[in-house]
Amino acid sequence: MEKTAKIYVAGHGGLVGSAIKRRLEGLGYKNLVYKSSKELDLRDSLAVKHFFELEKPEYVFLAAAKVGGILANSKYPGQFIYDNIMIESNVIHSSHLYGVKKLLFLGSSCIYPKFAPQPIKEEYLLSGELEPTNMPYAVAKIAGIQLCQAYNREYNTNFISVMPTNLYGPNDNFDLETSHVMPALIRKFHEAKVNKLPYVEVWGTGTPRREFLYIDDLADACIFLMDKYNQNEIINIGVGEDISIRELALLIKEIVEYKGDIIWNTSKPDGTPRKLLDISRLTSLGWKAKVSLREGILLTYNWFIKNYYKND
Ligand code: GDP
Repeated sequence: MEKTAKIYVAGHGGLVGSAIKRRLEGLGYKNLVYKSSKELDLRDSLAVKHFFELEKPEYVFLAAAKVGGILANSKYPGQFIYDNIMIESNVIHSSHLYGVKKLLFLGSSCIYPKFAPQPIKEEYLLSGELEPTNMPYAVAKIAGIQLCQAYNREYNTNFISVMPTNLYGPNDNFDLETSHVMPALIRKFHEAKVNKLPYVEVWGTGTPRREFLYIDDLADACIFLMDKYNQNEIINIGVGEDISIRELALLIKEIVEYKGDIIWNTSKPDGTPRKLLDISRLTSLGWKAKVSLREGILLTYNWFIKNYYKND
């Protein structure tokens, strides 16, 4: 991407999009376009076409999505499948119609089968049953991958799909009902410390394992792949190691300096037992994550205490 290229970051207000925008600006890209979801509803085909016709972006980062944690996925399955399918179809189709040079679509590691061998290689996609707690979201993301691949084959486009592992960092969703585990636990331990509560409730058994990638590393990988990767096959983005939810809870407890206990609420779902990505395709291109888990949690925690309660 040339520094003057017109780049559209779809979803720039979210965790992923805001990090990509920040990174692009930091690298000196000057011609960025973005619209808030209030200004442009990406589920509206006509509005999206109109936007592309007017702006004619050359590169697109498709980071807009309806996302949420394990509970949000089971509570709003209709929104998760509809919003995501509409957003992807509209942005990918308009990118084709208006001659976008290259598009990068962000998928998710939950597209892989629930019991995929670990670490998960890209070719395991569609080789087994999905995890039921987030199946509508996963099916929508798989549709996005297929859209990119089908358009590449039929229309000779250059639309790549990247599959990030679990992400975390500043601008994450810290709402306890809808968030993912990392922001939820940062907030729970912090509030328990401030309010001197005797224990923190953590969901499930603590045995599931998850891999966590700091959002600035993800943004860096996306820009790297936008420059270097032109294959039809999907590519994983991760750190190459995972940790149990129990270990994660203990690490956050230590970083937050909370002295009370942890209670495991096993009436809440565990979800997929493990989803560690095989990142050899990415590492063979020469990319590696830089931020350690401890460092990333500390950065996120500091951001959270500075920013989250501002408007209260
Ligand atoms: P997943 O990676 O799609 O399963 O989504 P989550 O990040 O929501 O959950 C990951 C794991 O963390 C699951 O096993 C959850 O049960 C567990 N977990 C423990 N405490 C919490 C919590 O407070 N919020 C969330 N979202 N998950 C939690």
